Amino acid sequence: MTSFEWTPIRYRNVIPVLKNPYYTGAYAFGKSEHRTEIVDGRARKTYGHHRPLQDYDILLKEHHEGDIDWAEFERNQKQVAANACRRPDGTKSGRGGRALLVGLLVCRRCGRQLTVNYTSHSSRHACQPVYRCDRGAVMLGQRRCMMFGGLRVDKVVVQELVRAVEPMAIEAALAAERKLMERQAEQRRIVELELQQARYEASLAERCYAAWDPDNRLIAATLEKSWEAALRRVQDCETRLDATTKATAATPAPDLVGLAEDLGAAWKAAGVTMRTRQQLLRTLVNELTADSDEAAREIVLVIHWKGGQHSELRLRKPQSGGHDCSTLATRWP
Ligand SMILES: [Zn+2]
Repeated sequence: MTSFEWTPIRYRNVIPVLKNPYYTGAYAFGKSEHRTEIVDGRARKTYGHHRPLQDYDILLKEHHEGDIDWAEFERNQKQVAANACRRPDGTKSGRGGRALLVGLLVCRRCGRQLTVNYTSHSSRHACQPVYRCDRGAVMLGQRRCMMFGGLRVDKVVVQELVRAVEPMAIEAALAAERKLMERQAEQRRIVELELQQARYEASLAERCYAAWDPDNRLIAATLEKSWEAALRRVQDCETRLDATTKATAATPAPDLVGLAEDLGAAWKAAGVTMRTRQQLLRTLVNELTADSDEAAREIVLVIHWKGGQHSELRLRKPQSGGHDCSTLATRWP
């Protein structure tokens, strides 16, 4: 008897399945190649270098029954490429952790990406993320560009995100409402046409029954049955029309006022992981630049939205021992 032993999934088991076109029903040959290079005057061959899909020797789609279709396979390849890290153009955010902006924050002074580390004031407090740009200081002995706590910055960026997404969410809610109304009107029109047809058939059956010689009982009984069936269809259509009318009346109007609060609540919902939040942010934001305005004692963040818009956020640095959380946000097209 076959038995299974379930173990936690491992990267090395998943990635070949995702990358192998066999599971789409395709036959592929020549997926890797060997390379020859001259080392110390002698030829050295290395094997197993993966080729890109378009360079395979043979690729026959729809060769056998697949588990997924080709479009889904291509979507998977894009997602796998987008998730790659430690590459010059690889994604560096959306991989979890406790800091929202990791991988998205760039120092406006030196152009380097800010790093995050976690500090705790005491063993009783949880570790707090701290964003910092001090690679120049560590590597070259230069002055540290900046360092600031992550919690307040993350919170302010989330507020700005919800504020930016709100008009889009309202527009989407209105579009959904319009679609629903159109669908309901269409359903009602179909039922009305069916009712019209059923009423016509019932009146026709009634006329046939009335015109027939009542002495011919067999035909009369058949016509009576057909009339009754037509009347039942009329009744059925009337009931459906009534139900459609009630359903239309019972559909609540969209609560656009509460939508912004809903967005905020959805962001903080228990089932939403930091990875999901980071990925959501990444879909809307290209990068954030950070600077420190020493004279005004402010942290200056600029959000570069996808689509070319920018938002500037200024956070007052807390006084030593204080917790000043005031924020000034400005925006330009
Ligand atoms: Zn820097």
